[in-house]
Amino acid sequence: MLMDDVGEILITEEELQARIAELGKAISVDYQGKDLLAVCILRGAVVFLSDLIRQITVPHEIDFMAVSSYGGTRTKSTGVVRILMDLRTSIEERNVLIVEDIVDSGLTLDYIISNLKTRRPVSLRTCALLNKQECREVDVPLDYVGFDIPNKFVVGYGLDYGEKYRNLPFIGVLKPELYIE
Ligand code: IMP
Repeated sequence: MLMDDVGEILITEEELQARIAELGKAISVDYQGKDLLAVCILRGAVVFLSDLIRQITVPHEIDFMAVSSYGGTRTKSTGVVRILMDLRTSIEERNVLIVEDIVDSGLTLDYIISNLKTRRPVSLRTCALLNKQECREVDVPLDYVGFDIPNKFVVGYGLDYGEKYRNLPFIGVLKPELYIE
């Protein structure tokens, strides 16, 4: 059982859903009367996006972008980002909200922000479910944050370790013996 690999639950399903409802409400107020395009960063943010947009009450569109970082270890990104799949929509003149699962060093989001900025959106904001502030290597603007978490490698709710555990409905930490750096 996947559950048996989890050593600690950091954020329960109920806590996630309650916070996402708050985020959805805040976004709905801020984007009232604006043309919102939510950009989901694949693959980790897909579960978050699908719950978040059901809490957003203003009309909006969604699009997807897949990125991966070169090299690094299984738990650490290098910041050298590659776009594996680009947006289908042009974001020129749009109000773009980047939806990310977790910000760790900040290198991935920093790359995405500078890339999307060149495409001339009217506004560009960020929404991250999880924030590991103490790991930050580059300052990235976070407009909406679900939870600040300690420097632990987490899985579940879209986040993986070796492509597993994305389906867990909560955020957890694996048993230490399961992590190979
Ligand atoms: P950053 O570039 O160091 O900010 O890393 C961002 C990306 O690394 C995220 O989009 C995740 O895909 C991945 N990542 C960072 N920390 C974790 C974690 O604790 N669990 C799972 N993936 C993570």
